[in-house]
Amino acid sequence: MKLRWCKKCVLPNSRPNLIIDKFGICNVCNLKLISKNIKDIKPLGKKKFKQLIKKVLKDNPKNNYDCLVPVSGGKDSTWQVIKCLENDLVPLAVTWKCPSRTELGQKNLDNLISLGVDHFDVTINPKIEKKFIYKTFLESGAAAIPMHLAIFNLSQRIASNFKIPLIIWGENSAKEYGFKKKTDVLKKNLDKKWVKSYGVTHSKIAEDWIDKKLKKKNLILYSDNQNSNFKPYSIFLGDYFGWDPIRSFKVAKKKGFKSNKFAKTGLYDFADIDDNFISIHHFLKWHKFGFSRLFDNLSIEIRKKRISRSKAIDIIRKKGLDIPKDDIKIFCKYLGISHKHFFNICEKFRNKNIWKYDTKERKWKIPNFLISNFNW
Ligand SMILES: [Zn+2]
Repeated sequence: MKLRWCKKCVLPNSRPNLIIDKFGICNVCNLKLISKNIKDIKPLGKKKFKQLIKKVLKDNPKNNYDCLVPVSGGKDSTWQVIKCLENDLVPLAVTWKCPSRTELGQKNLDNLISLGVDHFDVTINPKIEKKFIYKTFLESGAAAIPMHLAIFNLSQRIASNFKIPLIIWGENSAKEYGFKKKTDVLKKNLDKKWVKSYGVTHSKIAEDWIDKKLKKKNLILYSDNQNSNFKPYSIFLGDYFGWDPIRSFKVAKKKGFKSNKFAKTGLYDFADIDDNFISIHHFLKWHKFGFSRLFDNLSIEIRKKRISRSKAIDIIRKKGLDIPKDDIKIFCKYLGISHKHFFNICEKFRNKNIWKYDTKERKWKIPNFLISNFNW
């Protein structure tokens, strides 16, 4: 594969679903360029949101929640809850309790609940979860597959069981990070097909991971609810109000959300801060695709016209390889594995189509990298 970098943002064509055209522009940048003129891509606005609520909640009994909001306690989930409350909805907030929630993550989650919502903090059997996380990390170089399976399926399962007609998600990641077909970003609901393509589950379902230690009954909360006929409608709030990480943060901050003292991974000190392991998920992008979370964040900032491409490249050059050392330490301790074993697994996923070993300098390098004088 010939690695190419978008001329507008700083993402390469090795990123899944990011397609760069003959003019050197990626499909996400192209979408943002044309979005002003396309009705289907522009945020639908408050009026349409109100209309949708009215339609979906038409038959919802008076003694039931209006919607379910999957929340982590992060700035986006705080924004989602604020929007629901502003629109007189009574939500049930649901969290998959990550195995390494940060102190700040807990504080922000407590703050979110104090805005005035009922909340489920769902803990999965920690013995099973640890085995599952290790297995997906070892076999797919992806420690966050259990997290994504839990978030999508838990929300569906609880909404089905409570017969809650509406699930409100934050942003459509296909719109921000790449998509296969344009219809995927025009879509206004999150369904199984969307999860398969964009849900960071490697297109697998929980049952694909069954083995002697992970039995079907151990994976209930990660799996799709096959038995229910009740199908809640799922929307992205970003389709109605637009999505912008800085705006979400500002809205959340006004209602008590706190940022971190530094960015745990990437650019923002207010994102990816509630869980110690999310940085591990982002770190493996370096081996697999040749970019890091910083590239994702900066590309959003470029498209929002808050930073120039050359300034973004400067930031990447200065920051260098974004290794989440503290989080790796916590992750290794959690799994009971050595640092050597951790990095051996990472090496297994180094994409040799992109990376070449420099025998003189004894370092891995990307020949066609975005930055010519990068400190490898
Ligand atoms: Zn681009």
